[in-house]
Amino acid sequence: MRHADSQDRRRFLAMLGAAAVAVVAAACGVRSDQASVAQTSAVPTTEPTTNPAAAATTSAPTTTTTSTTTTTNPPTDAIEVICKEAWRAQPVAGEFREHQIDQITVHHTAVLLEDNRDAPARARQHQAYHQSLSWPDLAYHYLIDARGNVYEGRPVTAIGDTATEYDTTGHLLICCEGHFDEQTVPADQYTMLVRMLAWGAAQYGIDPTAIRGHRDLASTTCPGDALHAKLADGTLFADVADVLRRGAVQLAVVCGGEGEARVAAIEAGTV
Ligand SMILES: [Zn+2]
Repeated sequence: MRHADSQDRRRFLAMLGAAAVAVVAAACGVRSDQASVAQTSAVPTTEPTTNPAAAATTSAPTTTTTSTTTTTNPPTDAIEVICKEAWRAQPVAGEFREHQIDQITVHHTAVLLEDNRDAPARARQHQAYHQSLSWPDLAYHYLIDARGNVYEGRPVTAIGDTATEYDTTGHLLICCEGHFDEQTVPADQYTMLVRMLAWGAAQYGIDPTAIRGHRDLASTTCPGDALHAKLADGTLFADVADVLRRGAVQLAVVCGGEGEARVAAIEAGTV
């Protein structure tokens, strides 16, 4: 918790028109000296990617995307990730530092989400706030809203950012929109978090029991009491392992007109 940052963030979000913003810790981060790493038996899955046509119009030269797939014919039951262009993210502003992921941490945004129709705007506000801190992009690699929609953040090849004194190198940062010291975790959001964690665990050869919450590694309440409880009692580990037992989880990026339609549907409250 950094009080000065909280004040800055409150002012910033107020400036952006965010309603009923509850502010706690500044953007999350983790350090790399905990969270053990297990065997490296990665299951090949689809890397997040960016629609080439959309990327050509928005990506800064420093963007380190991992474009290996297209958005057509996604695998059955693949997790659909809304690309940055579709949620109207700003271009990357600055240089990324690259890393190899070998850990996963769970975060929350620490801002109450009372109406999921606000989620795309929230994603934009978080990115704008993070870029106001001279970070190149949204601090996280993926953001999950209350209905379980997944938003593409910075490339997984890029080290996450943090306002706390931790080294995010090697960490896959998965963040749930909401403030889980003050609200419960919606079922759809939790289900998608489990699936995203299962994807990450398989993709990077990380034992599910090595997944950590931010507060396990740093002086912060992130990811909030309600979400952290599922880590602390082993529920999340078991649920991730259960998904992995049922097979590989894949990602499919949704972009272009389909992505825009998805975001419009979220803003209309239909998904
Ligand atoms: Zn965090």
